[in-house]
Amino acid sequence: MYKVGITGGIGSGKTTACKVFEVLGIPVFYADTVAKEIMTKDALLIEGVKTAFGNESYFEDGKLNNKHIAGIVFNNEKALAQLNALVHPAVFRAFDAWEATIPSTVPYTLKEAAILFESGSYKMCDTTILVTAPYDVKIKRLMQRDGVTEAQIKARMDKQLSDEQKGKLADHFIVNDEEQSIIEQVLALHKHFLQIAEELKRFEC
Ligand code: ATP
Repeated sequence: MYKVGITGGIGSGKTTACKVFEVLGIPVFYADTVAKEIMTKDALLIEGVKTAFGNESYFEDGKLNNKHIAGIVFNNEKALAQLNALVHPAVFRAFDAWEATIPSTVPYTLKEAAILFESGSYKMCDTTILVTAPYDVKIKRLMQRDGVTEAQIKARMDKQLSDEQKGKLADHFIVNDEEQSIIEQVLALHKHFLQIAEELKRFEC
């Protein structure tokens, strides 16, 4: 099935754009949400985390010891890379299992991930969308949504690739600046992906 990856910086509105695609009947895999869920569900991942960071990574009731893990990976690039090397393949496994449940009548799927480009998972998508918004708009949204300061938001932004860097890798763009209609832009992309899905289907027959 045709796979579309969608990403954007924090507060850009990638989840909002995905909700519009969902209204159009397109299933969305929210990789960041799934990544959190599988930390306590994927047996291979749990085993890997315990081996790498100790049995105390999990409490006796199976819950993740976030404080323990955060304490190890915070400001430790090697440990963070080790954790990512365990989590990313587990997310790919979860995506494959999810995709297998999607009916063949669905024309294409969307994979939403904050670090689609940084993690390299864009390479497993057929095409990609980058959602962008001006800096001030993102700050305003996140201060409202999360009740955080501009400095805290900036610290999070600095950990991600810039829109300029991501833009070089993206195939399509949604400008969510609250001036151009996000719905119109999603509709135009949806039409485009439907055409591609239709052509692929004809090609397969
Ligand atoms: P994060 O990565 O931080 O979760 P995101 O890129 O998924 O962010 P959203 O959660 O979609 O961004 O949007 C951030 C906030 O901005 C939300 O509260 C959302 O309702 C609001 N928002 C997004 N787009 C618009 C818009 N076009 N008009 C008004 N509010 C918007």
